Amino acid sequence: MLPLVALVGRPNVGKSTLFNALTRSRDALVHDQPGVTRDRNYGVCRLDPEAPFAVVDTGGIAGEGVHLETQGLAGATARQARSAAEESDLVLFVVDGREGASALDDEILAWLRKTARPTVLVINKIDGMDETTVRSDFARYGFSDVLAVSAAHRQGIDELLEEILARLPEEGDAEELDDDPSRMRIAFVGRPNVGKSTLVNRLLGEERMIASEVPGTTRDSIAVDLERDGRQYRLVDTAGLRRKSKVDEAVEKFSIVKTLQAIEQCQVAVLLLDATEGVTDQDASVLGAILDAGRALVVAINKWDGLTVYQREQAESLLARKLSFVEWAEAVRISAKHGSGLRELFRAIHRAHASATRELGTSEVNKALEIAYETNPPPSIRGHVSKLRFVHPGGTNPPTFIVHGTRLKVLPESYKRYLENFFRKRFKLVGTPVRFVFKEGV
Ligand code: GDP
Ligand code: GDP
Repeated sequence: MLPLVALVGRPNVGKSTLFNALTRSRDALVHDQPGVTRDRNYGVCRLDPEAPFAVVDTGGIAGEGVHLETQGLAGATARQARSAAEESDLVLFVVDGREGASALDDEILAWLRKTARPTVLVINKIDGMDETTVRSDFARYGFSDVLAVSAAHRQGIDELLEEILARLPEEGDAEELDDDPSRMRIAFVGRPNVGKSTLVNRLLGEERMIASEVPGTTRDSIAVDLERDGRQYRLVDTAGLRRKSKVDEAVEKFSIVKTLQAIEQCQVAVLLLDATEGVTDQDASVLGAILDAGRALVVAINKWDGLTVYQREQAESLLARKLSFVEWAEAVRISAKHGSGLRELFRAIHRAHASATRELGTSEVNKALEIAYETNPPPSIRGHVSKLRFVHPGGTNPPTFIVHGTRLKVLPESYKRYLENFFRKRFKLVGTPVRFVFKEGV
């Protein structure tokens, strides 16, 4: 289970800057592709790739934990952020080292004490400040753990990360769901109302859904087992699996943290889209989370039944354009309501899983690099040319290739994409991200 860390503090102390420092890695290959967006408030910190955790920026919490915005959609999002703080494994109480302790900080602290979550005090903006003076200003808060950082300059982030990891619950909960390796773990994810519950219920049948719930050890994590055409699956933490709650407001029941956790736990993520609505920003940010996690991906375009022939043509061209940056992912048209397209959906899921877990040998990947290199050597950049010497497989799920060479700093992004496409074609890798790691020297 992906632990949850909440950033709490009054406006302008630097929470969103800190959020970015924790959640935005500098891995250019995966990030910053046009068409992928990242949620502004929810993300996953992978600074230690072995110990990822979810981060929520709770936004503008005011006194007593009351959000500044409480109306409408923004209000629902704010309430969700607030309850995320209440459910988090660790709170980072962020304060402004330049301005010192304020009345609003005092109020937030009083609320935090009531929530009784483990809390670390993070004094931000200490760049150019005298740390001892700044610390003494907040001494009366009585925290035993105080970190002084500059989020904007990434100063103190390593120490903060160490502190966070030391405070988070021990791993092990995740293994709870891993106990049956013969079951492929699938997550059906997507924004509210795309049809996740309808799909999952159709796959399972109502009674079976209740009968075979696999409760997790923490919170209300739920997985459910499915047998289909003689194969075993485990559907992990899907919103659609939860019993219908009284609060049926779509935004309220949609939990971004649960979505991030489901993505983390699955082997194949099925991103549901609503054919009648195209690709929204929220769809794009769920997609971003799947790519960041390196999960195999199948896009299921749901509600295909509701479209006229003309609308289908429109939808096809729109989706092709919006999803062009993940053209390696298969898109399947389905109707959860009528149960059509599901056979094709599961075929695509299996193809994606097979690609993601395919073991490749050192000699075959070197052969591929050699041919790619000879067909199209890297260009000269201001008189410098990268040399690619050899490559070895760096793991599966997603397939990873470690390329060793020299002058790799001048290897253009376009060449990295060329290599990726070349390897994809040669090894028929569909439905999975592919990672290249470039290492200077041999
Ligand atoms: P939030 O409202 O708590 O999310 O705060 P923001 O992250 O939006 O930051 C508020 C302001 O503080 C922005 O102008 C940031 O550039 C600035 N800021 C954030 N972190 C630092 C820091 O470490 N040092 C300094 N000097 N300014 C910072
Ligand atoms: P969730 O929030 O993603 O779990 O979405 P639901 O499964 O609750 O579905 C939201 C709405 O879309 C409901 O009114 C469903 O009846 C409807 N819906 C779901 N799948 C389909 C479909 O394949 N075709 C059509 N026409 N409507 C669908």
